[in-house]
Amino acid sequence: ASQAEEKDLVIIGGGVAGYVAAIKAGQEGLKVTCIEKRGALGGTCLNVGCIPSKSLLNNSHMYHSILHDTKNRGIDVGDVKLNLDAMMKAKDTSVSGLTKGIEFLFKKNGVEYIKGTGTFASENEIKVALNDGGETSVVGKNILIATGSESTPFPGLEFDEERVITSTGALSLKKVPESMIVIGGGIIGLEMGSVWSRLGAKVTVVEFLNQIGGPGMDNEVAKSIQKLLKKQGMEFKLGTKVVSGDKTGEKIKLEVDSAKGGKPETLDAETVLVAIGRRPYTAGLGLENIGLELDDRGRVVIDSEYRTKHSHIRCIGDCTFGPMLAHKAEEEAVAAIEYIKKGYGHVNYGVIPSVMYTHPEVAWVGQNEQELKAANIPYKVGNFPFSANSRAKTNLDTDGMVKMLADPETDRLLGCHIVGPNAGEMIAEATLALEYGASCEDIARTCHAHPTLAEAFKEAAMATYSKAIHY
Ligand code: FAD
Ligand code: NAD
Repeated sequence: ASQAEEKDLVIIGGGVAGYVAAIKAGQEGLKVTCIEKRGALGGTCLNVGCIPSKSLLNNSHMYHSILHDTKNRGIDVGDVKLNLDAMMKAKDTSVSGLTKGIEFLFKKNGVEYIKGTGTFASENEIKVALNDGGETSVVGKNILIATGSESTPFPGLEFDEERVITSTGALSLKKVPESMIVIGGGIIGLEMGSVWSRLGAKVTVVEFLNQIGGPGMDNEVAKSIQKLLKKQGMEFKLGTKVVSGDKTGEKIKLEVDSAKGGKPETLDAETVLVAIGRRPYTAGLGLENIGLELDDRGRVVIDSEYRTKHSHIRCIGDCTFGPMLAHKAEEEAVAAIEYIKKGYGHVNYGVIPSVMYTHPEVAWVGQNEQELKAANIPYKVGNFPFSANSRAKTNLDTDGMVKMLADPETDRLLGCHIVGPNAGEMIAEATLALEYGASCEDIARTCHAHPTLAEAFKEAAMATYSKAIHY
């Protein structure tokens, strides 16, 4: 084992949090090392999360559209077949292109990249078990923990990634299952459920709460997307809790209970996707060697400057507080490096957008209606349906709406909730408006190009203080 020179910063984890911090640190002139055990950079997001799921979502949507949505567009197609192998290869190509891109950016910014598993030997020294065998150690003036998260297991239903799967298995099934039960109607359940439903599986989503979409989705929007997904063939069992599972038979059996105390039921399927949330991942990191605590949900405890109780050791991304989102991790990465380099940094946690990449997409930023009600904050609503938007009409893609929530006195935007085509791109405008404290009138008096879907956004803003023109 060789003793390396002391670095300004050692980062454990090369996911979005870790790799963005490494590049930023390089740009700021810090001597930085990033340790990643996966063998590829980009973490969950690039390897088994955001990127491969969006590849399958995009291509399964095209396949489904070609099967069901061409005749009224004047396109006659012949025999349409699914080539799942090729669809998976297209996904792998996108992933490997992007992960290699980060290696290039590491080189460009002078970041040292060590492939191995890092463990705290002391408060400044990280021992690394190298992927290729052997061991090394790195010493850092500052250390950044960015070890991410993992799927929460369901007791009694062990993952084999073929029949009982996490999102990772759902990204690489070898054939389309005849039936799939998704436990958990959050973002992963609905995105991956959509993929396999479009490719031909009979998908049933079992959700404990009375609403799909996971935390943060506006009630009205959640109801609306549920209806649309049902129209596409997905089944929903809401207010239903999976209590136990049995994978010994040919089909997997699940015992479910109605949350309202109805009759227990047994469901079965060829494949079960467990999507009941993710939990912070810090196994093997040796936090106990340096006396760092986790909270009751396994998150590394930090202060508002991302410092653990050892102030030179910081933590960002999925393994600490806040929403488990790649863009949140990225913002924290930049802020953490700014704290180290300059002593100040900032992330506005009230203005982090969320996007669910189903079709139509669902996107939101700021507060939703149920949160405003619960907090007794007065608000007014502006709605605009895509069925009244010229571009959505020409695209024959009119499901959904834009919903704006604004302060009744000042007209300041409080939240925006969109279900509709391209909602994920459109939410950037709402995010900017919220960040700048815009009023809905500011938005509505800003000229929007015609014909665009964004005009629905403008008209929903108009509807909060006046009337929409086209509805
Ligand atoms: P991770 O990406 O998990 O990276 C942590 C890295 O640390 C891993 O690569 C791990 O191998 C490494 N590591 C852990 N311990 C050690 C150790 N001791 N030594 C060395 N290396 C170590 N978010 C979005 O914003 N948009 C999306 O569309 C989206 N889609 C998703 C789809 C799926 C199926 C999943 C599962 C997640 C999705 N997410 C999405 C969430 C997103 O992937 C995470 O929020 C993001 O990856 C968090 O980044 P991170 O760097 O904190 O953690
Ligand atoms: P989630 O928290 O969004 O949803 C989990 C759902 O499972 C909840 O609605 C919960 O009520 C339900 N549930 C829990 N136990 C259950 C049981 N026994 N029976 C029935 N239902 C049960 O978690 P997720 O969908 O697994 O996603 C994990 C994380 O990954 C989230 O933080 C999410 O933001 C992130 N992610 C984001 C994107 C995106 O931004 N597009 C995509 C995928 C994942």
